[in-house]
Amino acid sequence: MRLSEMFVPTLREAPAEADAAGHRWLLRSGMIRQLAAGIYSYLPLGRSVLLNVERIVREEMDRAGCQEVLLPIMQPAELWEESGRYTQYGPELMRLKDRHAREFALGPTHEEVVTALARDEVNSYRKLPFTLYQIGTKFRDERRPRFGLLRGREFIMKDAYSFAADWDELDRTYQAMNTAYCLILERCGLEYIRVEADAGTIGGQGETHEFMALADVGEDTIVTCKHCGYAANLEKAAFLPADSTVLMDAKEANEANETNEGAGMLRIETPGVRTIAELCSFLGKKPEDMIKTLLYLADGQLVAALVRGDHELNEIAFKQVLGAEDLILADDATIAAHSSLTVGYLGPVGLGMRMVIDADVAAMKHAITGANEVDMHLSSVRPGVDFALDQVECIRFAAEGDRCVSCGEPLVFTKGIEVGHIFKLGTKYSDAMGAAFLDRNGRQCAPVMGCYGIGVSRLMAAIAEQYATEDGIQWPVSVAPYDVHLIPVSWKDEHQQKLVLEMEQQLLDHGFRVLLDDRDERPGVKFKDAELIGLPVHIVVGRGAAEAQVELGSHMLAVSGEAKRISMTAQEAVSYVREHIRRV
Ligand code: ATP
Ligand code: MG
Repeated sequence: MRLSEMFVPTLREAPAEADAAGHRWLLRSGMIRQLAAGIYSYLPLGRSVLLNVERIVREEMDRAGCQEVLLPIMQPAELWEESGRYTQYGPELMRLKDRHAREFALGPTHEEVVTALARDEVNSYRKLPFTLYQIGTKFRDERRPRFGLLRGREFIMKDAYSFAADWDELDRTYQAMNTAYCLILERCGLEYIRVEADAGTIGGQGETHEFMALADVGEDTIVTCKHCGYAANLEKAAFLPADSTVLMDAKEANEANETNEGAGMLRIETPGVRTIAELCSFLGKKPEDMIKTLLYLADGQLVAALVRGDHELNEIAFKQVLGAEDLILADDATIAAHSSLTVGYLGPVGLGMRMVIDADVAAMKHAITGANEVDMHLSSVRPGVDFALDQVECIRFAAEGDRCVSCGEPLVFTKGIEVGHIFKLGTKYSDAMGAAFLDRNGRQCAPVMGCYGIGVSRLMAAIAEQYATEDGIQWPVSVAPYDVHLIPVSWKDEHQQKLVLEMEQQLLDHGFRVLLDDRDERPGVKFKDAELIGLPVHIVVGRGAAEAQVELGSHMLAVSGEAKRISMTAQEAVSYVREHIRRV
């Protein structure tokens, strides 16, 4: 392909919207352009990368025995009402009306559509198992679209759905999809880990795993144990509660200038002191000496969660413990409407509502808490004595240094981008939507489902992130838009043009994809653009053309520690490409 004929609008500066290294380079190399927040156009080079990722995904899905379909993006609201997700999905679901005022949703995922299809078409065990997949556009009105293609509002996903007669059959498909996902990520050249995950709004009754590409911009926290290999999303990570105790001796307590009250509890005046951090500096204590009392509305009822001051509440775990459909942090107005309490001074003593107490709070010997009175806290509060430990659960997130449940070694945190997610759904959707088949014995059963998503556009962004350098993205061969960038220093030079055309032909004959910079530009501009575009091999043809001498640069060379570009004959350069460029 001739660069002079291509639409590759490279930029000297990154637009202000660019908020991650990979995203900046995708914009600067003219691969993508933003149309609106979280909505992007793929320009020729970007489209080519995307197609390469799609090809890898498609090949692995086909190899795993899945069948490709294309399901509608526009879906009747009634389908979503059947599954109960029309309300549950909330504002992330894009909704619209047709000319007859009928409501529709733009598919963020396709469980409803595919389950309806199975309900209509699959009535016997003889038709099971099977897995359908598609590669297509999804819509999610994300609260915070960011990092370009990483979190879009319109994006490309591969989603697959499996239908099985029983759980054993589902297990086998899940395993095959797991392998396919590993192969996809390896072929894309991504450094990744597979973690135990939470099912979110997709739900389901079985296990679920996420595939995380490692990157600092990743919005997910991955918790791993280097010792035994345990790996989970922070949302899901299990850990041994730290059996730490907070000891506050009487001498210390007396120094605090409070009035003694009750069996050991002390009242401390804390005017205007509301947050844990403020309380720490006011009292000269640490967050782990305090209890945080958080009020939530769970299906309309006010409930409290108690965690240690240095810990974070895991709302997912809390919601599960409560068995609540709907859980939101109560704001000041809600609290005022339901009680006489004030945020900043909340505490478990005499709170007068259901409390779920984190295990590490229950293990505290003494603690500092709010007194449920403005400008007042309590110290030397003894969990189990000064307030009842009615419901003790593990409701906090793991913290770095917590011990692994499997082997007791300390857990380590890293950042990751969720690129894939596989779920054992069980019969959640088949039950809700009345899909059923007759088994071998003529009994009516619900098909056992699985679903498997991989973000195709997010994969492209994750690769860009992992392969971003100071000068551009160094695309892995498997997804690079072309294999070789041929750069004549002066296209008008007769020798250079002749040699470049010969090399182009040879490379094409060997099946390589070649980009030729035939523009009448200064060499500096050409080199800069070549770095921006980031193809695996650059061949510069300049003054040595008459003697068939060229310079070859490749990030694969850089890896082996050699100079940026090395001189060789045109023949050697072609041989180098033949030896090193293999599309996996
Ligand atoms: P996240 O937690 O990042 O929002 P999710 O849990 O909502 O992801 P799934 O519903 O499991 O994601 O979707 C399957 C895959 O689709 C994800 O693993 C991810 O690769 C991709 N994906 C999800 N949301 C987006 C988005 N807004 N932009 C790009 N890709 C996305
Ligand atoms: Mg999401």
